[in-house]
Amino acid sequence: MAKQSASRNRITQPRIDRLRPLGSDWEWQMRAACRSTDSAVFFPPTGEGLRARRLRESKAKAVCGRCPVRRACLEQALAVGEPYGVWGGLAESERRAVTAVSA
Ligand code: SF4
Repeated sequence: MAKQSASRNRITQPRIDRLRPLGSDWEWQMRAACRSTDSAVFFPPTGEGLRARRLRESKAKAVCGRCPVRRACLEQALAVGEPYGVWGGLAESERRAVTAVSA
């Protein structure tokens, strides 16, 4: 019993030769136009009405429209299925539509 428990609690160490730097995968985020923007512009508050949503999303999309890493952002959001907010210039419903068309 004690032996089984010890083996269950063993921590598996990752093989160092399989590791690669992650920084380069996320480097594009350092150039994101939204780094200096309030994140509340990109994510819906609870109970947001349609008119307020349209206005907020319009502001977010304006930031995305001048973002030099928009493509990388959108590709990442589509790849991981970001469920909320404006990413890469598209709101969640727009990303779902893109995903549905390309599936
Ligand atoms: S595309 Fe929009 S959400 Fe994505 S990094 Fe740029 S400003 Fe931020």
